[in-house]
Amino acid sequence: MIVVLGAGESGVGAAILAKQKGHDVFVSDKGAISERYQRELESHGIAYEQQQHSWERIALADEVVKSPGIPDRVPIVQQLVSKGIPVISEIEFAGRYTTAKLIGITGSNGKTTTTKLTYHLLATAGFDVVMAGNVGNSFARSISEEQHEYYVLELSSFQLDGIEAFRPDIAMLLNISPDHLDRYDYKMENYIRSKFRITKSQRPNDIFLFNAEDEHIGAYLQEHQLQAKLAPVSNSSIEDARLHVAGSTYDLSQSSLRGRHNYMNALFAIQAARIWGAAEEAIQQGLNTFVSVEHRMEQVALIDGVTYINDSKATNVDAVFYALEAMSRPTIWIVGGQDKGNDYGPLMELVKTKVRAMICLGIDNQKLIGAFSSIVSTIEEARSAEEAVASAFRLAREGDIVLLSPACASFDLFKNYEDRGRQFKDAVRKRIKT
Ligand code: ADP
Repeated sequence: MIVVLGAGESGVGAAILAKQKGHDVFVSDKGAISERYQRELESHGIAYEQQQHSWERIALADEVVKSPGIPDRVPIVQQLVSKGIPVISEIEFAGRYTTAKLIGITGSNGKTTTTKLTYHLLATAGFDVVMAGNVGNSFARSISEEQHEYYVLELSSFQLDGIEAFRPDIAMLLNISPDHLDRYDYKMENYIRSKFRITKSQRPNDIFLFNAEDEHIGAYLQEHQLQAKLAPVSNSSIEDARLHVAGSTYDLSQSSLRGRHNYMNALFAIQAARIWGAAEEAIQQGLNTFVSVEHRMEQVALIDGVTYINDSKATNVDAVFYALEAMSRPTIWIVGGQDKGNDYGPLMELVKTKVRAMICLGIDNQKLIGAFSSIVSTIEEARSAEEAVASAFRLAREGDIVLLSPACASFDLFKNYEDRGRQFKDAVRKRIKT
């Protein structure tokens, strides 16, 4: 019997695939299961429980598929491990049931953007490709629905923690900066090891694309021998808005991708598409037609000569670093929320040169104010997106940029980063004169 812990998108996807492959399946969720997923499990005849974990039933499992949201330290997982029952991730499970070619994408920042872009380049080039994992449908669900020739998978470190034999033909490690350390005993080396699991089962013909300038990646590679072919992706291939890849040049001046970080993401996507044989012209066309992803450096409006940008997904310091770096004009920076143990040190120089005023959007803004009060003369506080936009509107002068790039989680004032981004956009759009 397969037991699935957690009934979100990945758990339900794994349960459906397991059932389809002839396993007995039992799904157990400590919290409430959404109506939609309950109906789905029922329609597939899959037994489930919610608001509890019944050990006597779970202990009968031959193997357990754990959802990425459940930390290893919770008692039920500890009990399974001590009883010797294998606990794997949905990605590991789904990987057993396909012979398709796979690209796996991980990193601290840029996963969603790079996954969508890689998918878009391949789709534009006519590949039978599907995008799954942390974005859209779970991998297991898409395998259960229809087999395709190519998959592009976004993989978080939590999803990588539970893989053993999963083997992407192309693995990408975009970058590593501190994030989610609460799940890794506050040890950076544990988080780094988790990211490198993406290449663990790769063979000599597989390809490992990695960020050549990233210190954490470089240090790890010095000490560990990988099986896969190493393919460094370097900043030095970027010349203004032109990217040089394998003897060809791609032009991003017509693209919605902005900032050096997005050019790096594009280099990864282009290299992968080239490896799989996509034509140069198709890649250029894909770059021109790619629509940038909501809540990531998203241009919202131009009002009275002031540009408003929604970067609500910037929930760590590194993402904000690249956002600020991309600002070409004086910036009113909306920042704050739930602090994840941030070290603002890396932002100091950029803030000094680019930020005209700061608006702290959080319940407790003391840490931010303490960090920046000596270098930013105007700091205001706001308790809602509406209030933050009102302040920004008052402070901004023609030619300025108003940037929501919070460096923090959103849960103190908002449901999630999407809610924060949408409320920001609504508040901005209300100010457009009709
Ligand atoms: P992820 O899926 O890894 O969270 P996203 O594509 O959703 O990544 O982007 C998250 C945030 O990080 C956004 O604010 C985005 O502008 C920023 N970002 C995107 N790519 C990179 C990168 N390569 N390096 C640093 N920050 C990035």
